Amino acid sequence: MNTPSGNKFARVGVAVAIAVAMAIGSGAGSVAAASITFGTPTASSSFGKGVTFRQPFSSGATFREVDIAITDARSFGPAVVRIDAPGVSSFTYVLDALSANLRPNTQLVARFEVTLADGTVEIGPDIRVTYQDDRFKWRTKVGTIVRLHWYDGDEAFAQQALLMGEKGISNAATFLGFKETAPVDFYVYSDQSSFYDALGPDARDNVGGRAIPETRTLFALIAPGDISYASTVVPHELTHVVFGDITRNPYHQPVNWLNEGIAVYVSQGFDSSDKQLVEQAAADGSLMPLSAIRGMFPTTQDRFFLAYAESVSAVDYFVRTYGREDLVKLVKAFGTGASDDEAFTAAIGLGVDGFDAAWMKANGVTALRSFGPQPAPTGRATANSTSGSSGGSSNGLPVVPLLAAAAVLVGLLLVVVLMFRRARSRGAS
Ligand SMILES: [Zn+2]
Repeated sequence: MNTPSGNKFARVGVAVAIAVAMAIGSGAGSVAAASITFGTPTASSSFGKGVTFRQPFSSGATFREVDIAITDARSFGPAVVRIDAPGVSSFTYVLDALSANLRPNTQLVARFEVTLADGTVEIGPDIRVTYQDDRFKWRTKVGTIVRLHWYDGDEAFAQQALLMGEKGISNAATFLGFKETAPVDFYVYSDQSSFYDALGPDARDNVGGRAIPETRTLFALIAPGDISYASTVVPHELTHVVFGDITRNPYHQPVNWLNEGIAVYVSQGFDSSDKQLVEQAAADGSLMPLSAIRGMFPTTQDRFFLAYAESVSAVDYFVRTYGREDLVKLVKAFGTGASDDEAFTAAIGLGVDGFDAAWMKANGVTALRSFGPQPAPTGRATANSTSGSSGGSSNGLPVVPLLAAAAVLVGLLLVVVLMFRRARSRGAS
């Protein structure tokens, strides 16, 4: 925010007084005027590179420190970065797209903060900029809530996608008992590589859409004319935006299976293919407990799809058992920053593990093979007793594989030396 001018003058007055006092006290010949005047700042965005902030200034003062504070819609407070070489007439800072994980339509507000030699802090004006995907000539269609941006395909395709978006957000808001009023930007990409570039380096495989609820932005990969795929991905991603609006808090993220499960439930229901995946996993013992999909979903394709199927299955079970109103209660509880247990208990009087067990039981599963970290072995193994038979050693390093690796390395070294000698002798002949 801008510093009110009255305050600023008062502070400059005090600073000058201190500077004069210091000059008199120290007998110094010259003391820089402790003040700075900020010019009109600029910011420019370039897709794939980042955003350059520039703040012209005039000052004869010595700076103790210059920082830039950048507020991003995705965070709860500004990120402050120290400017190492401030320059003589303007401050410049480049926010790197990759390291800041910038995605198109990220709104940023930045300002330069200058600490003068006497400790006075002067704050520059706000610089507002939106990081954009400038590789395409985007066209835009505006609905009641949704603003559809597309670059490929005709007007009719865009109109259909926009209507799907409007209907999707309205269905999701009704289902979750919420009223959406702020606009949502919906970007349609028609080719996979441009779409993945927009999502950034953390994009997962098998993804056709991505919602960033914090920036109220949705990205989807839809080939022009592929309206049937659009009819699933658009309401799915928009449900994430509504879910994000209800649950956003700085303390605790809701379990991921609930977020994904509701998105699938609202956009396509618990359909026969997902039912089949869950039934089969329950029958062959490969069903994952819901606790396994509280965070990121697995990356292998079969487990990735099973994770979605289980998520919608759990939401379907919840709605059938407790009703939609209790599901709304659960989602709203997450919005208060409640822990998983607190949120579930507030909604249904049962903790998250209790719900997990009930859902598994409903699928005919009572005991699961457990993977992942295992309890530490009891008793202490020694090098003498174990290295010969199992390859273990007292410090936990496997002795036999290490010896084998050393032997292979020595062998490789010999081969390299021999080849080198031969090559030299060939070159000489
Ligand atoms: Zn999703």
